[in-house]
Amino acid sequence: MADQRKHTAGTAIRRIHLEGVVDLHFHFRNPAEAGDGRTEMLMEAVAHEHEAVVAIGNSAPPVTNQEEADAYHGMLCRHRPAESDLIILVAPLMTDRTTAEMVRKTRTSRPRTVGFWKAFFEGVSNDGGMSISDPALVHDAIRASYDDSADAEPVSVHFHAERKYVRGHTGETEHRIPMLEREWYCVDLDVREILEQHPDGIFVLKHITDWRTVEFVREYHRKGYRIYGEIAAQYLAQCFDDLWEGPGNKGTAFRANDVRWPLPKDRKSQLAIIDAALSGEECFLFGSDCAWHLDDPTKESGVKVTCDYVVCGGLAILPAVSLSIIIDCFVRAEKTEEDLNEFLSRRARRLLNLPPSQRRTRYERKNWEIPSLKEGVRGSKKIRVRLFMGGEKCAWRRSISLPA
Ligand SMILES: [Zn+2]
Repeated sequence: MADQRKHTAGTAIRRIHLEGVVDLHFHFRNPAEAGDGRTEMLMEAVAHEHEAVVAIGNSAPPVTNQEEADAYHGMLCRHRPAESDLIILVAPLMTDRTTAEMVRKTRTSRPRTVGFWKAFFEGVSNDGGMSISDPALVHDAIRASYDDSADAEPVSVHFHAERKYVRGHTGETEHRIPMLEREWYCVDLDVREILEQHPDGIFVLKHITDWRTVEFVREYHRKGYRIYGEIAAQYLAQCFDDLWEGPGNKGTAFRANDVRWPLPKDRKSQLAIIDAALSGEECFLFGSDCAWHLDDPTKESGVKVTCDYVVCGGLAILPAVSLSIIIDCFVRAEKTEEDLNEFLSRRARRLLNLPPSQRRTRYERKNWEIPSLKEGVRGSKKIRVRLFMGGEKCAWRRSISLPA
C-alpha cells in the first residue's frame, strides 16, 4: 500500500501514488440550460483525474432541493464518459427560503445524491441570487442538517464566506466592505454566530484565503467544533500581488484571467494557507473550485480583457494542474504520500461518508506545459477557455492506475 517512509530529500522523489482524489468543490454548469460545451469539457478533464467530485448547485437553473439535486445528478451522470467511474454528488444551495424539511430530506433520500449544502452570503460571486442575507433566517435549516429528527447521518453545510455589505445594508457605497476584508468580515461575524448557535453542526469554509480565517478554523477545531477550511491550489500558487505581475516577470500587468472570488490575499496569508495545507491537521482539506468561464466577448457581464487584449471570463484551472501544484508543494516540504492522501482524499471521504478509495494512481515527476487555451464546441461554433497558468510548467503528471 502507500509508502509510509518520510521522504528525506523532496526533490529526489520521482513517483507518488495517490488514492482516489475527492474534490469538494466543482462547477460543471448545466448543458441543458447554457448549452455552451463547458460541462463536456470539464467532464473530460476530471473524469480520470479524480475519484469523486461534489458539483456545486449554482448552475442555471440552480439546485435548491432534493428533487433538483436528483435531476442535476442524473444529467451529470449521463455526461460522464462511459469508461469513467467518477463518483458525482451534488451540493444544493441553501437560501433564505430553505426549510428544515428540505434539509432533512437530503439526509434520508436514497440513493444518496447530495454531498452537502452550500451557502453563499448575499452580494458576492455567482450565486444567481440564491444566497443567505442573515444567518438568523437559516437557523432552522442548519439545525436540521445535524439534529436527530432525521434517522440518518448528518449532512455538512459549506459557506462561501464573503459579504459585500455591512450586515443589514445593501447597495450603499458607504456600507460596502473593502474587497480584501470581505472574507474575514463574514467569518468573524456570520460564521462565528452560526458556530456558537450550532456547536453540533458540521461546517466547511470554502476556498479560504485569509490568515485570520486559518487561525479561526484552528481555534474552533481545537475547541471541539467540527469546522474545516477548504484549500484550493490557486491560493497556494498565488498571492494578491501576483495578479499584477506580467508574464515572464517583465513588468506589471493586470492578469484579468486570474481574478477570482475571494481575491487572493497578501503573502502572509498565502504562507498561512500553505502552512495549513501542509500541517497535517484534520481541519484542512482539498477542494479545487474548478469553475470555468468562457472567453466570450458577447456576454454582457462576467467578462474581462487581459493585458494582451484577450477577452476572458475568470480563473479556470485544470484538475491536473490543481493536483500538480499540491503534490509539488507537499514534496518540496518533504511530506509523505500519507500526508497527501489525507489532504486530497481521506478527510473529505470521512466528511462525506464515502467508502475507502478504490483507486491508486501513479503520478510521476515530468515537466509538462499547461496549454494556454482549452477549446470546445457549442453547436457549430468553437468555444474557448483561457487556462490558469497557461504556458507555464507543471512538475507532476498522472501516469498509470494501479489496483487499490
Ligand atoms: Zn466555487
